[in-house]
Amino acid sequence: MTRLKGNYIGGDWVWPASAASFDRTNPARPDEVVSTAPESTSTDVDDAIAHLSEHRHAWAATSPEKRADVLVAAADILATQAQDLAVELVREEGKTLAEATMETTRTPQNLRFFAGEALRMTGETYPTGDGSLVFSRREPVGIVAAITPWNFPLNIPSRKLGPALAAGNAVVFKPSEVTPLMGQRLVEALVQAGVPSGALALVHGHADVGRAMVANDEVDAVTFTGSTEVGTAIHGVTGVDVRTQLEMGGKNALVVLEDSDLDRAAAIIAKGAFGLSGQACTGTSRVVVHEAVADELVRRISQTAQAARVGNGLDEGVTFGPLANRAQIDKFCHYVEGATSQGAVLVDPDGHQADPPGGGYFVRPTIFRDVDPLSDLAQEEVFSPVLAFITVSSYDEAVRVVNNTKYGLSAGIVTSEISRAIRFSEDVATGLVKVNQATNGMAMNAPFGGMKHSSTQTFKEQAGASMMSFYTTDKTVYFTP
Ligand code: NAD
Repeated sequence: MTRLKGNYIGGDWVWPASAASFDRTNPARPDEVVSTAPESTSTDVDDAIAHLSEHRHAWAATSPEKRADVLVAAADILATQAQDLAVELVREEGKTLAEATMETTRTPQNLRFFAGEALRMTGETYPTGDGSLVFSRREPVGIVAAITPWNFPLNIPSRKLGPALAAGNAVVFKPSEVTPLMGQRLVEALVQAGVPSGALALVHGHADVGRAMVANDEVDAVTFTGSTEVGTAIHGVTGVDVRTQLEMGGKNALVVLEDSDLDRAAAIIAKGAFGLSGQACTGTSRVVVHEAVADELVRRISQTAQAARVGNGLDEGVTFGPLANRAQIDKFCHYVEGATSQGAVLVDPDGHQADPPGGGYFVRPTIFRDVDPLSDLAQEEVFSPVLAFITVSSYDEAVRVVNNTKYGLSAGIVTSEISRAIRFSEDVATGLVKVNQATNGMAMNAPFGGMKHSSTQTFKEQAGASMMSFYTTDKTVYFTP
């Protein structure tokens, strides 16, 4: 068990005056406490932000080279720790060791990428014709509140703290209450690398801590990744002077038509739907399939689902870890029961129960066919390995089904027809479009973000120049020598 160091405020690791705490347990063995974290309040948040407000200017005035060096040093620290971090990540969050290792490898790469961006914060000059000069100046926004979910507890925060710090902002960071240890590990590396106390604060806790961050008048920008429900609540609170970036839920569809290669489609669906035990924002939760190939595709995916080795992500050969917590299990059961009552057919009736030793939060990959495209299972984000097959009879009907949800994060198609692939990329209302690839997975240097209720689309979360736009503010300067 790891008792966390506390919150990181004003350069010190401190516990709230009340010393209140909460335990995070291993989702594969819920009797094992993995981390004990401070149960902070708005007082802790306000203290943290007050310190940043007073001391943030030194980091903003640091040269871009220095800021880049610090981020690279943090990346080096995390890269050295990658194997140990992966084990801690499995115990705290539940993914398999292979999945955790991908995350602990990617996180330092993200920091290196943003280190480079520190050096590319360029402005522009504008012709005047009268001997004067007009130019734009890019400056840090100020204090950034970063609020993050549990499913990528290193990776997603690194894509917020990295660019924010690269641009010279100060950051107050609230990791998910499900993964506080990972939050501490990231901040430890940044502090050890040289991020000053005036540029970084960490406050642990639940929703109240996030609410207090969003409500604090000193905060200039809020970057949030999490559910659409919470993102919508944040959107209703932030003022016009607070730039707000919300990356939220998805109901991602993969389209398989009569011309699709079914072997290829089956492999792509298995990766998209069952990777990370279905707990990825871009995971495939709907398969929109032509009636001519539906039976065969369902049969193949069912076989793959049955072959999943469910268990503790640290155990040899396990391919499918537990869900993150009891709330995830409850949500899973709610949708499995609701789908049956709304007429969907459970493909493998005993398939969704899983009971490895240890009493963990285990389920099996679960498939429904003949799902009504307007039913809850087809419309709402389940965020677990429940896959809905929806049968259609044409490409046009498939596109209508893909677009007929409030979400717009990722959509894919399996096809060898180039014209159909290009048309699909035009027709679907999603921020990510995948051709012959799983709906999940992202390139670290490409724009990432959704549409509709999946994202504010104000700025893409990770996107080279546009990503840095969120963390910088522009002034236009008129200058006569
Ligand atoms: P969540 O929305 O429940 O919580 C996210 C964070 O917000 C947590 O730190 C939580 O404590 C905090 N929070 C809760 N209520 C708050 C409030 N009222 N004000 C401020 N902060 C508050 O999400 P989760 O369960 O941690 O993560 C799963 C969700 O995240 C899924 O919906 C998934 O699709 C989404 N997600 C989206 C992306 C993306 O890039 N689009 C990536 C990963 C996860």
